[in-house]
Amino acid sequence: MSVLICGAGPTGLVAALVLTANGVPCRVIEKHTGPSASSRALGLQARSMEILSGLGVADEIARVSYRLTGAAIMRGTKKLTQMDWIPPSSPYPHTYVLPQSGLERILRTHVSQQGVEVEWGTELVEAEHGGSGVDAHLADGSTVTTQWLIGADGARSRVRDSIGIPFHQDSTGETYYLADAALDLPVDIGDSAMWLGPQGPLMLMRMPGDSRTWRVFIDVSDRSETDLPPMTQEMLARLLTERGPQGTEVVSMGWTSIFRTRIGLAARYRDGNVFIAGDAAHIFPPFGGQGMNLGIQDAMNLGWRLSSVVARGSDARLLAAYEKERRVVAEATIRDVNARRKVFALRNPLARAARDALLRIGGRSERARRRASLQNSQLQTTYRDAVDHSAGGPGPRPGDRAPDAPFLNSTLHQLLGPDHVTLVHFSPSASRSRVDRSAGAYEVTVASEGHEKLRETYGVNTGQECFVIVRPDGHIEHRGSQRSTVESVMPLLVGNRKGSM
Ligand SMILES: Cc1cc2nc3c(=O)[nH]c(=O)nc-3n(C[C@H](O)[C@H](O)[C@H](O)COP(=O)(O)OP(=O)(O)OC[C@H]3O[C@@H](n4cnc5c(N)ncnc54)[C@H](O)[C@@H]3O)c2cc1C
Repeated sequence: MSVLICGAGPTGLVAALVLTANGVPCRVIEKHTGPSASSRALGLQARSMEILSGLGVADEIARVSYRLTGAAIMRGTKKLTQMDWIPPSSPYPHTYVLPQSGLERILRTHVSQQGVEVEWGTELVEAEHGGSGVDAHLADGSTVTTQWLIGADGARSRVRDSIGIPFHQDSTGETYYLADAALDLPVDIGDSAMWLGPQGPLMLMRMPGDSRTWRVFIDVSDRSETDLPPMTQEMLARLLTERGPQGTEVVSMGWTSIFRTRIGLAARYRDGNVFIAGDAAHIFPPFGGQGMNLGIQDAMNLGWRLSSVVARGSDARLLAAYEKERRVVAEATIRDVNARRKVFALRNPLARAARDALLRIGGRSERARRRASLQNSQLQTTYRDAVDHSAGGPGPRPGDRAPDAPFLNSTLHQLLGPDHVTLVHFSPSASRSRVDRSAGAYEVTVASEGHEKLRETYGVNTGQECFVIVRPDGHIEHRGSQRSTVESVMPLLVGNRKGSM
């Protein structure tokens, strides 16, 4: 077996899609005996949707989800401010709301179409380095020997712990009740709203489909019990009346959970031929809906690197950058989410009043709304610090996400994909734009005239020669004016078992 993926959550399933798109054999094992019905994460951000688009699943997600357009800050039944998102520039510029269970169902169907079935009821109990790669010992007493192992097995990762990757984690001290409930609300709150009372936040987010079903998220950290009782319909009605929109009727209640938030980051993402990704590598509170999205992007980053090495014989040095790039992103996200958590959790009346005033100002400021929308979208994720970003200029730099722009009868993003590197050549002499496809690499020639929007987006003047190498994960690896440099960079990404370029 080339690659064994432990865990059939969003991270493991996306890793399987990237590997199979590259023809890399893999297995996905999952300790649960069947799909989870719990909704958990609700939001797919723009960057994840771009990645999922390359994997052929974004349109289906867009069909069954709804687009979140903003969030209200409420006091009782009065709206204090409305934070309307300003969609950033992307083919998928929104937050797409669907329950994690629904996303996993879609991902599993696509993985299955690639010939890989999730192996339910298959628990890894220990992973250890072996003579021919990694030995994964399973709960039924058998052992799977694999060349590479991806631990996408969530916050309590057995892969991580058994292989000895340190994972320091702390409680943030907050506990939340979660519930999916049908509510009859006394007031129109849009699709998402938050009450920032003296006991901490209470949030409501509409679920897709039936407009009366909401995800309820209530801070109950002030409750002294260590063993909180499970949420009941009566408790929910009381908490909503005390802290949220008075007069709400709880019509029915589905999934509930008690959630104690923790923050943790693995010391390393790799140990020999074992990698960890998603919640196995990082955990933090769900403010801003970033966690699951980070896992999807980890899977993409790791998946294309591993595919290049396994399927196309790329230099194994390519794998080192996975941790270098993705751990820094997780660190920054944790900092940001923790800052939001502290703001939402304020108890002091003066501090709360100052926060509410700032939120009101933010709601009225286009700049603040644009910044918040862009930050949530994860489109600004850059690996500048990990790649050589010395190439300056007005356009995107190495490490940045390659922006989209119209090209020929379509867009540039339509030409990117998880199974190839795309070389975009702004040519000062080509009379005709064209796309040359070969295994593992596309070359896109942009003619000397026309394509103003594409040139403007990439900061390339007419008459200027510029080569931009876009990796399978949609990030720029190199930008420069010399074909000879391109020829030295491409083999590392594309490997030596490719077709001619
Ligand atoms: C209540 C709640 C609400 C959340 N809300 C949001 C949100 O709004 N937005 C957001 O982005 N994130 C949210 N998150 C976080 C999000 O759910 C996680 O970030 C996401 O599930 C991580 O995906 P993953 O695939 O890395 O791990 P998981 O989804 O945890 O998947 C890991 C899988 O591995 C399996 N597994 C574990 N151990 C083994 C083993 N030894 N052998 C075999 N299989 C194993 C598990 O059964 C599981 O299926 C929320 C989380 C919770 C709990």
